[in-house]
Amino acid sequence: MTPEFAGNQIIIEVLYLIASVLFILSLKWMSSPTSARHGIWAGEAGMLLAICGTLLHHGIVDYRLLAIALVLGTIIGIPLGRVAMTAVPQRTALSHAFGALCVTLVGSAEFYLQTPHISPFLMSVLSVEVILGGLTITGSLMAAGKLQEILPQRPMTYKGQNVVNFLLLAVALVIAVYLVLHPDARNLFPFMILIALAFGVLLIIPIGGADMPTVISLLNGYAGLSAAAMGFVLDSKLLIIAGALDGSSGLILSIIMSKAMNRSFSNVLFGAFGQVQTSAAAGKEERPVRSATAEEAAAILAAANKVVVVPGYGMAVAQAQHKVRELFDSLSKRGVDVRFAIHPVAGRMPGHMNVLLAEADIPYDRLIEMDEINGDFAQTDVALVIGANDVTNPAARSDTTSPIYGMPILDVDKAHTVMVIKRSMSPGFAGIDNPLYYLDNNLMLFGDAKAFVGSIVRELGGGHG
Ligand code: NDP
Repeated sequence: MTPEFAGNQIIIEVLYLIASVLFILSLKWMSSPTSARHGIWAGEAGMLLAICGTLLHHGIVDYRLLAIALVLGTIIGIPLGRVAMTAVPQRTALSHAFGALCVTLVGSAEFYLQTPHISPFLMSVLSVEVILGGLTITGSLMAAGKLQEILPQRPMTYKGQNVVNFLLLAVALVIAVYLVLHPDARNLFPFMILIALAFGVLLIIPIGGADMPTVISLLNGYAGLSAAAMGFVLDSKLLIIAGALDGSSGLILSIIMSKAMNRSFSNVLFGAFGQVQTSAAAGKEERPVRSATAEEAAAILAAANKVVVVPGYGMAVAQAQHKVRELFDSLSKRGVDVRFAIHPVAGRMPGHMNVLLAEADIPYDRLIEMDEINGDFAQTDVALVIGANDVTNPAARSDTTSPIYGMPILDVDKAHTVMVIKRSMSPGFAGIDNPLYYLDNNLMLFGDAKAFVGSIVRELGGGHG
């Protein structure tokens, strides 16, 4: 080993070590809105150091190809980063597909480089790498397609579907075992990848579009695990650490989301949710509700001491967060105590409400998590629900027959007055009626969230028109 080579190795190891620490800090900081920005910077800095370390690697023989790849990646990456907030889940799915494609291609190259002289351990992790990578490529593309509505959103099911899927996966695993025992059977390798690719498609077909965020988080977990497996194959500790962090955080997030929706993992993956409930809601009889105008709503809010705003998916769709900020300013100026109740699965992606409200510069200390604020609703004058539905549905507490029974909800019905901004009596994601709307202390404010909040702000005498 030349002194120059040894010196390079030390620099690479140090860069990788710092990158690993930054990745860990990044995840820690991203768990709270106050430190989330630091988390993003730490993650970006960690990735930059990891790339710099890799560029110093002695195995690189020609930098020209890398430069072309870097330029191409930048050209594709910049527009991908500029999507609307509501399109972030499908954008994330595309990133997973790219990551998984990379992992699968590297795994395939290593297979042909290292076989037949490959240890059983390495062949096992290489198989895990390409199977998880392959199914993540097509699974993520399907998930992105469903969310972007390029593909039909509804679950597509047929009899014996799960059996067919598992048989397919079993065949891929049998090939993997055979390759571990006979690594010279190189012709079988492409079949293993093809089956994994087909499995990814079939896995996503029976899942409804609305369940995609949870599935994407799960696919994130798979992509991370396949990257960790690649770390073993390439003997890279950094990849093992980064992949394990990615894999475990993706899996933990999907478990948190499933719990907050009161669903089991298997129900998300095999339940074809969304189909049954929507048709169940269709035959509902009409019941009277009380509604109010923006002028009346403004008067009620102005007379309140304590207001809790409950944002939901409708606020995201309407992009009403900036108007909500104006409402917050207007009421705060009048001395009203305004806080925001954040349900873990409000909207359509984890942290959806935090991100939107932070974008509108609502102070972080005004955003209160569900468990913390639920006890305060009884002392709240007005709970103003903006485009939220399921996360406020009291049936989840009391109706054992409800599909969302057991799901933790925001107890808005306990406030003295509840006002709900939404366009109609249509159900939300779960496709079910909300008994909240028929309660005596509830007022419906029918309209688009952005327009209605804007009208209230005007009535209060603030805002920018
Ligand atoms: P919901 O989907 O329950 O309800 C949203 C409501 O917004 C609808 O009832 C709709 O009523 C209203 N709405 C839509 N557009 C507008 C608009 N322009 N202006 C005003 N209102 C509008 O949303 P929640 O946030 O309460 O609950 C989220 C649901 O999504 C939960 O069931 C959760 O389990 C699920 N989910 C969440 C994920 C996450 O990570 N956050 C992931 C996957 C699923 P109308 O049409 O009458 O206006």
